[in-house]
Amino acid sequence: AVYSHRSAWGCFSQFHTHSRLLAVPNTKMFIDGQFVESKTTKWIDLHNPATNEVITRVPESTLDEMNSAVASCKKAFKSWRNTTILTRQQCMFKFQQLIKDNMGRLAQNITTEQGKTLVDAEGDVLRGLQVVEHCCSMTATSLGETLTGIAKDMDTMTIREPLGVCAGITPFNFPAMIPLWMFPIALTCGNTMLVKPSERDPGACMILMELVKEAGFPDGVVNVIHGKHDSVNFICDHPDIKAISFVGSDQAGTYIYERGSKNGKRVQSNMGAKNHGVIMPDASKEMTLNQLVGAAFGAAGQRCMALTTAVFVGEAKEWIPELIEKTKQLKVNAGHEAGADLGPLISPESKNRVCNLIQAGIDEGADVLLDGRNIKVTGYEKGNFVGPSIIHNVKPHMKCYKEEIFGPVLCSLSVDTLDEAIDIINNNPYGNGTAIFTTNGATARKFTNDIDVGQVGVNVPIPVPLPMFSFTGSRGSFRGDTHFYGRQGMQFYTQIKTVTQMWREDDATGGKAAVAMPVMR
Ligand code: NAD
Repeated sequence: AVYSHRSAWGCFSQFHTHSRLLAVPNTKMFIDGQFVESKTTKWIDLHNPATNEVITRVPESTLDEMNSAVASCKKAFKSWRNTTILTRQQCMFKFQQLIKDNMGRLAQNITTEQGKTLVDAEGDVLRGLQVVEHCCSMTATSLGETLTGIAKDMDTMTIREPLGVCAGITPFNFPAMIPLWMFPIALTCGNTMLVKPSERDPGACMILMELVKEAGFPDGVVNVIHGKHDSVNFICDHPDIKAISFVGSDQAGTYIYERGSKNGKRVQSNMGAKNHGVIMPDASKEMTLNQLVGAAFGAAGQRCMALTTAVFVGEAKEWIPELIEKTKQLKVNAGHEAGADLGPLISPESKNRVCNLIQAGIDEGADVLLDGRNIKVTGYEKGNFVGPSIIHNVKPHMKCYKEEIFGPVLCSLSVDTLDEAIDIINNNPYGNGTAIFTTNGATARKFTNDIDVGQVGVNVPIPVPLPMFSFTGSRGSFRGDTHFYGRQGMQFYTQIKTVTQMWREDDATGGKAAVAMPVMR
């Protein structure tokens, strides 16, 4: 196959695969406002998950390239921090319109590189776009505080100031939304940002950089480098980088939090999840089952807020056959095919891991009620497909319960009481999201009060807050103090300066200087 798509960030290179001459574009970097071809000798092949054909090669940026990206951020910061927030917002207004205008192109790229369906890929862009829209009204949340007359002729005020150069490290599962959780807020606050997108699907981030340029952001306010561990270590260690935003797995997130913090950086780290949905017998059955199926299997389960664990309370377990029937109606196909509900998983390794976890469930005595391991997708026989799968009678000690599966697999447990359900969830180390399905307000209120999870839905299966709020995963799903986007995002990317000023006419009385501690009364 010869790929004809060419854009500002991709250029053609040729190499041999299976003794055929293929031409695929290399992914470029974005340094100082230019799309730059890497001089590296280390390239990562990026495969379309539906076909496993190589579609681009992603460079591992060299040390020189990474240094020049940080230098560009540092230089741009000097003038960017002194632009007014209104100027920065004007760029955001243009940027948000450009994202809307390029929605189709962004979604196409996400489907090709990441695998999710086109309609889901548009959702990926849209949830990021909402952060950009929020940035257009951040003047209100950026206000400081003032107390006048705190002592005679004296006023104190707090000012929010940018930190400097910030860095963002992002995962594969939301190639547009998660970079957009980061750099728009960092920039609106007056920072500059170095982004290292996932090496598995950086294309959407590169299209966003085209739009950044077109929106009129000055050169250097965002730079993009690529790579794996070396680039992550570089970010954790570089003295000019003041803060790191990370979203991804536990292993990487814990490591980056520790290494970055040790180097004196501010770090926020959003990590893995195991989200439980509690189904009460008084819930609205049809709505609940539809929501469960959508939230468990959408994006092939590759969402950190996927509802992966159903806890049926009492007689609600009688609904499981209907849950299976609804799940069977889902269509698995390549993401760009009409009518596809689930696309492939990101890689053959991912598919293997998911299949092994289903097998572990069987081995440990759970019942696999729907097994998607041997699915065949006509025309895409080489894709990383796993069909929707349901494992019932799962117990908390089982591997399929303890590990984040990150695939289209719903684990189900049944318990007798709401208290038992709450205990199970509160004993799970993760705290990203949870939901309860009920028609009883008192039950819902007890649940929201007693549950120790950062984001709670009542009849809402994936309770990801809009950007006027913050994304508030807790416990094992988060390391840091302040969360992503909303008021907390703005707090993460700013530091407080307190100014105390006295304006008084010189009374010309002379006298002796006071040396006792001023008590400001
Ligand atoms: P990942 O940790 O493999 O990759 C994330 C980033 O870290 C990438 O840029 C990658 O290059 C880098 N990286 C990977 N391994 C590393 C290592 N050992 N050391 C240093 N850096 C490393 O994550 P992923 O597979 O791309 O994404 C899926 C994970 O992200 C899931 O666990 C999911 O729950 C989580 N996630 C969490 C949220 C959230 O908000 N809590 C949102 C989306 C995804």
